[in-house]
Amino acid sequence: MIPAFFDSIVALITRTSVDLPPDVRRAMSQALGQEVPTSSGGQALAIIAENIDQAAEGEAPICQDTGMPTFEVKVPVGANQIWMKARIREAVAEATRRGKLRPNSVDSITGKNSGDNLGPGTPIVHFEQWERDDIEVKLILKGGGCENTNAQYALPVELAHLGRADRSLEGVRKCILHAVWQAQGKGCSPGAVGVCIGGDRTSGYLHAKEQLFRTLDDTNPDERLAALEAQVMSTVNTLGVGPMGFGGNVSLIGCKIGVQNRLPASFFVSVAYDCWAFRRLGVVLDATSGAITQWLYRDGDAPSQRMFEPGTVGFVRSGHERVLRTPLDEATVRELKVGDVVLVSGRMYTGRDAVHHHLMSHEPPVDLRGGVLYHCGPVMLKDGETWKVVAAGPTTSIREEPYQADVIGRYGVRAVIGKGGMGAKTLAALKQHGAVYLNAIGGAAQFYARTVDRVEGVSLMEFGVPEAMWHLAVTEFPAIVTMDAHGNSLHKDVEAASGERLGQLAAV
Ligand code: SF4
Repeated sequence: MIPAFFDSIVALITRTSVDLPPDVRRAMSQALGQEVPTSSGGQALAIIAENIDQAAEGEAPICQDTGMPTFEVKVPVGANQIWMKARIREAVAEATRRGKLRPNSVDSITGKNSGDNLGPGTPIVHFEQWERDDIEVKLILKGGGCENTNAQYALPVELAHLGRADRSLEGVRKCILHAVWQAQGKGCSPGAVGVCIGGDRTSGYLHAKEQLFRTLDDTNPDERLAALEAQVMSTVNTLGVGPMGFGGNVSLIGCKIGVQNRLPASFFVSVAYDCWAFRRLGVVLDATSGAITQWLYRDGDAPSQRMFEPGTVGFVRSGHERVLRTPLDEATVRELKVGDVVLVSGRMYTGRDAVHHHLMSHEPPVDLRGGVLYHCGPVMLKDGETWKVVAAGPTTSIREEPYQADVIGRYGVRAVIGKGGMGAKTLAALKQHGAVYLNAIGGAAQFYARTVDRVEGVSLMEFGVPEAMWHLAVTEFPAIVTMDAHGNSLHKDVEAASGERLGQLAAV
C-alpha cells in the first residue's frame, strides 16, 4: 500500500494529456519560425501553437485522440507490481471519467467501447526492476493516426523513389526517409520518429517506440547512430511534406535511433512515427508514500513556456476566407478551389469508422443533404442532460476511403472535413456530385472545440462516444480546401512532388 500512488498517476496522466513537454514546445516553436506565416503550413502551425497554449491553460486534452496509454515503470527490487498495475488501471479509468483521456479501448471483434480505457491489452504497462529505492513512471500517449503510419521494413527491400535499401546504415537511412514520405500528413506532421535497427518484428517495434522516450534535443551515445540521426535531420525537411502534408519546410522534428541484435536471417528496420502532439512525461515517486518527488522531461518546477504571448492568437484572418453556412448548395461548393480557406458555420455531423460502415447498409439517422460530415471522434462530458465538447479535432480521413464516395453520392453530403486527405475514389466522387474535402488541422482539439457553440443532439450512441454521430452547431470553423470539385488534390500534388525529392535524396 503506497498511499499517494494513485493520485500521482492520475496527475501524470492529466499533465501528459494537456501540457506538451518543453523539448517538444521548443521544436514546434522552431518549426513555426521556418514556415511562411501566410502559407497553409504556416497557418497550420499557428493553429497548433494556439491549441498547445489553450490545452495547458484549460487543463484539457491537447488532442482528442489521447492514444494508447503506455507506461514504462521502474521499481525497486521486491516492489509489488501486481498492486501497482491495479492502481495504474484505476488511475486510467479515473482520468477517463474526468475527460483527460478519451475512451479509446474497443473490443477488436465487436467494436464495443469499454468506456473507461480498460480492456485486454489496454493500457500497456511494462515493469522493470532497478537498484534504486524510488519508483520511476514514464508515460506516452500516442494516437491512432500516427500509430497507423508506423512502418516496418525487412531489408534488403526495394523502396519507391529510393531504390534498393541494403542491410547497412545507408539502407536504414533510406527506410526512415521512406517512412516519413509515406506518412505525408496522415500522422499529423511535423512528427518525430523512433527507429529500431534489428530485433525481431515484435521487439523491433517495441524498441522503436522506446526511442520516443528520449528528448528531441539529446545526443545518441552511439556515435554511429548519432551521425545517422544528424544525417536524416539535415536532409529530411527538404522533402517538402510540410505541416499536415500541406507542403512546406518542416516535416520532421526529431529522429531517434536505437539498435538491437537480430537473427542472421533477419534485418528489420522498425519506425514508430509520433505526431506533433508528442505527449510523454514521467515522474519519480517516493516508494513509501507514492508522492511525486520529481517531474521528468520538464524544466524543474518552472511552468511551461507559452507558445504565444497571452492575448495573441495563432490563426490570423487574411480577410479572404470564404464563409460557408450549412446546409451547402452545389453552386457554392463548386466555386471553391484548392487552397481556399473557409470558415464553416451552422450544423455539422461527426462520423468516422463505425458511422461510415453503418451507412453502407442503413439510411442515415439524419438528413445529410447539403450537409457537412466531420471525421472526428471527440472527447465529450455529460453535464446533467447536456453534452459538452471537451476536445474535437479531426481524425485521419483515409480510413474512410472505401466508403466516402458512396456516402457522398447516396446521401448528398457536400463537404467532408478531416485531415490527411483522401484518395482517388473520393476525389472522383467530389467532382461527380459537387462536394469538397476540407482539411482541418490535426490535433488542434482545443482550438476546434472552441468553435462549437453547442451539441444539438447525438445519433448512433451505441457505437460509443468517439464513434457516435454528434450534431454540432459551430461558428466559423476554419479549414483549408485541399480537394475540390474540379479534380484537384493538394495531397496528390504534395505526394508526387515530395516523391521526386525523395528520389534525389537517394544518393545524398
Ligand atoms: S495529433 Fe493527429 S496523429 Fe496525433 S493523436 Fe492527434 S489526431 Fe492522432
